[in-house]
Amino acid sequence: MSGLFSKLSGGQLSASAAEHRQMVAHDPNRSASLLAGLEAANLGWFWESDASGRLTYLTDSAISAAGREKDSFIGLNLTEIFATGDADDSDTTSRPLKFRLASRSPISRLNVKVLGDETKEMWWEISATPRLDGHGNFEGFHGTARDITRSLAQSRDSERAAQYDSLTGLANRFRMARQLEQTLKTFKQSKRSCAVMLLDLDLFKKVNDTLGHPAGDELLKQVAVRINKLVGETGEIGRLGGDEFQIILPDKDDRGELADLSKRLVQMLSQPYSIEGARAIIGCSIGVAIAPYDGIDASDLIKAADLALYAAKDAGRGTYRFYSSQLSQSAHFRQRIEDDLRDALSQGELLIQYQPIVDAKTHNVASLEALLRWEHPERGRVSPAEFIPVAEELGIITEIGEWVLEQVCIQLGYCPTEVRAAVNVSPIQFASDDFYSTVDRILTKTGVDPSRVELEITESVFVGDLDRTLDLFKQLKGRGVRLSLDDFGTGYSSLSYLRDAPFDKVKIDQSFVRGCTEEGNNNGALVSAIVSMAKALKMETVAEGIEAKDELAMVTAHGATHLQGYLFSTPISIEELLTRFENKELEFKPRGPEKYRSERRTEFRRIGLIHGDSRYDVFLRNISKTGARIEGLLDVPIGTEFVLDLGDGQLAIATVRRSDGFTQGVEFETQLISDGAQGLCTRHRVSPYQIEAAGRPLGALTNSAVAAYTGAMQSAPKAFVEVDIGAQIRR
Ligand code: C2E
Ligand code: MG
Ligand code: MG
Repeated sequence: MSGLFSKLSGGQLSASAAEHRQMVAHDPNRSASLLAGLEAANLGWFWESDASGRLTYLTDSAISAAGREKDSFIGLNLTEIFATGDADDSDTTSRPLKFRLASRSPISRLNVKVLGDETKEMWWEISATPRLDGHGNFEGFHGTARDITRSLAQSRDSERAAQYDSLTGLANRFRMARQLEQTLKTFKQSKRSCAVMLLDLDLFKKVNDTLGHPAGDELLKQVAVRINKLVGETGEIGRLGGDEFQIILPDKDDRGELADLSKRLVQMLSQPYSIEGARAIIGCSIGVAIAPYDGIDASDLIKAADLALYAAKDAGRGTYRFYSSQLSQSAHFRQRIEDDLRDALSQGELLIQYQPIVDAKTHNVASLEALLRWEHPERGRVSPAEFIPVAEELGIITEIGEWVLEQVCIQLGYCPTEVRAAVNVSPIQFASDDFYSTVDRILTKTGVDPSRVELEITESVFVGDLDRTLDLFKQLKGRGVRLSLDDFGTGYSSLSYLRDAPFDKVKIDQSFVRGCTEEGNNNGALVSAIVSMAKALKMETVAEGIEAKDELAMVTAHGATHLQGYLFSTPISIEELLTRFENKELEFKPRGPEKYRSERRTEFRRIGLIHGDSRYDVFLRNISKTGARIEGLLDVPIGTEFVLDLGDGQLAIATVRRSDGFTQGVEFETQLISDGAQGLCTRHRVSPYQIEAAGRPLGALTNSAVAAYTGAMQSAPKAFVEVDIGAQIRR
């Protein structure tokens, strides 16, 4: 064996100290014996290769550490011995090493996997410099090596800990953020899509509080297993912390598929869990956003998924929701509501409408439900469903509620004495210490007969201090006002509330009435059960939200004593009511459709319509999965095909099936799907990449994105006459 590391037999040392030093410094024997010492002490391994890359020398202890025989090792090409790659990755390869050897440049601290023994993973760190002869010809490499298997495993473990959630073994927030960022960056170049789901467990806190934290931990583990089962290899799953999970689904943009997966996730996670003998039930809400449609980069996409999750929770939890640009508008909107609501009362922007509640036998008005309205100077009428929760959060609901009660008591003075009025009471208002004294004061001040005033309370008041609630009920009943339980069946519905609390009336929530005559719907049986229970407790029953005659027939057949809904009347002004009362018109006749058409949603939305090379503005009046009614074009022949631009990049190909003046009934070529809430959406959307290709800057879709994309068509001659029906819509 020749070369630097070959062991030469030692020469004799003599001469003076200076000579000696000089000799030692240049003595190849000395260097060799030093290296031999290092080798023997296992402080380093040395190796050498020839010009063709074959191993010519390796420290003996290294050969035995690798579990090889000297003869079977020496002479092999380095690329047959080592592979490079990420230690985290099973995909190791010898190609990069081959290139490095071929380049004949120094190798510094390269991690290589030692090949040959499948049973044992071994990693070395190698360094080397090229070896040249006196003429500068390359003779091979020589260098060092050391075993880094253990330290690599340790750093892998700590890297794992930094990237994975120790409880569930899922990726943690840090890793998910990195993954998403990297995925979106790569996908942007290749114009691919990627969906993100944010999952939040409902009622998890309750499990933690009642069964303890270890049970909560066990539950989270089981949740992770269930998500894994459904998602498997199709996506990366992470736990962001607490009860929040995230799933990244590369190359997914079909909202039909994503809706199916979301539904299955909600269903699967809502099945009972068995935890140390106890049973726990939780729910799950999901927000879904898809790149590049809802956001191009990670932070925008997460913001979108977050808003969708928020909306899913708002929609009553246990559901999923796709992001739409409307959601971010409503987030802005909410902020503006907060800003303006404080002044609404003093500015006189609040008003009350009344919806008649009729006797089931005579259809004569028995009472009126007072429903608050906010007439905003710029935004028009804002729904109480939107601003009451904000008023509750801002703590101004008590003030508003007091005003409503006083107004109603005053206006009752103008109504026939047999008519009562019902006022909605927020649970926050109900919980305030001076609720009783406020009611008492207003009754005294207005002098109204207390038995004509009904307070509508929801089941949520039972969640607080039950003794106080029951005491307050007693006090109020003692003062002579009537109590009714609103939206029964939607909340914590417990029979014991009904038994213990002195309600005069139970209002059956409209979700039980809706679709009660559709096949396979067991709402009828539930209505019947609630009615007979209330009857046994001598309470009246109001069926809420009756919109069609078949619903009326059903609730009447099941014995509801009172009825409320658009079929009899929408909420109307006090002036309109007083006129009726003056004319002794106490009866409200049912007027409306024979059958409730569950899939039709009423809309008043301006949308785009593309026909040939022209783009029109039309109004969408209603929409279902299979079709829509549009207004705004005159005499469109049956069979005409066009594309409806429903906003947010949603294009639906449609054929005219009915046509009457400026109204057309159209059928969609592909059915729409549920957006998770009450809305509908298309499976696919125009990709922002297509819009970019048409010369517009790349950006997430907005309501007007496709309008901008197709805007160039505006100038083309139009085949249909456009009718200005805006005035009617604004009515
Ligand atoms: P609620 O007490 O359950 O009131 C009934 C809601 O159903 C009203 O909605 C009413 O317009 C609507 N409705 C009635 N008939 C039908 C029907 O046939 N079909 C459909 N789809 N809906 C029908 P509105 O006025 O938007 O009020 C929503 C909620 O806001 C009320 O639900 C109530 O919880 C709350 N709210 C309204 N006014 C007040 C108030 O003065 N104070 C408080 N605290 N809450 C109020
Ligand atoms: Mg109510
Ligand atoms: Mg109600």
